[in-house]
Amino acid sequence: MTTMSEQIPTISLGGEVTIPQLGFGVFQVPPAETAQVVAQALSAGYRHIDTAAAYGNEAQVAEAIRASGLERDRVFVTTKCFNDDHGYEDAKAAMAASLARLGFDRVDLYLIHWPVPAHDRYADTWRAFVQMRSEGLARAIGVSNFQPTHLRRVIDETGVTPAINQIELHPYLQQPELRRLHAELGVVTEAWSPLAQGAALEDPTIVEIARAHERTPGQVVIRWHLQLGNVVIPKSVTPQRIRENIEVFDFELSEEQMRAIAGLDRGERTGPDPDTFVRP
Ligand code: NDP
Repeated sequence: MTTMSEQIPTISLGGEVTIPQLGFGVFQVPPAETAQVVAQALSAGYRHIDTAAAYGNEAQVAEAIRASGLERDRVFVTTKCFNDDHGYEDAKAAMAASLARLGFDRVDLYLIHWPVPAHDRYADTWRAFVQMRSEGLARAIGVSNFQPTHLRRVIDETGVTPAINQIELHPYLQQPELRRLHAELGVVTEAWSPLAQGAALEDPTIVEIARAHERTPGQVVIRWHLQLGNVVIPKSVTPQRIRENIEVFDFELSEEQMRAIAGLDRGERTGPDPDTFVRP
């Protein structure tokens, strides 16, 4: 019998690095609950955890991984460099601080959390990321919330293409332009707030497709992401939902159902605008 973790496809981030296509996000999981929630996710079969310095729960993510008894290299861990830590030296210091909190000697994926164009330091930050990857501190490096101009600029200035861009993406914000550009540039698309923080789950179209498959709306939306080729990182603190969100490898949406969900796009963000966001 294959276990749930073995059913999760992987996507190449270049070289020998692969990322499990379905991961588990811990934004807004309070630090005091994080170790327990991540333990539940690992026991359900998730092998990819998405945290960030700004979430304040890196240490508790690592604590749960250590307590699980899983080898460190069996769990893919992403963390992120936050907005006050842009610039060559500051980004290196931020990485050192994240590694210290995690108790790791390297992360699997390190992301620039936001481009913060107002500070105009993301290209220098990216230079530090390239250096940190060559030093082995991150197996892969990428960005988050980068718009086309930000992506093109770091590639033009360094010749190094981010392996992945983690962007807000769900049925109400399908990001067709960025997804096309990613495909052209060879950047993997990773979807944050993949359920629109729950808002997409009451949509009548989603509910109807869920009924047809005898599945939940959450499973339908996650399945939609997987079939589009997105890396997807739903968050939940609810044990039943944590399990439900990974049980998505034994059914398939039809082309017609994929088209019906494509029709729900209304360009609606749940989070900040990457062109203007500086800090919360
Ligand atoms: P999600 O779209 O994953 O939605 C999470 C919400 O949906 C929670 O309220 C959760 O409730 C609920 N939920 C989860 N599963 C189900 C289900 N099966 N049925 C019904 N409700 C459900 O939003 P997030 O904003 O948390 O995004 C996911 C991850 O993306 C984050 O944790 C983080 O890792 C990443 N992210 C990255 C950002 C970036 O700037 N790079 C920004 C925002 C997020 P409950 O927990 O109560 O069960």
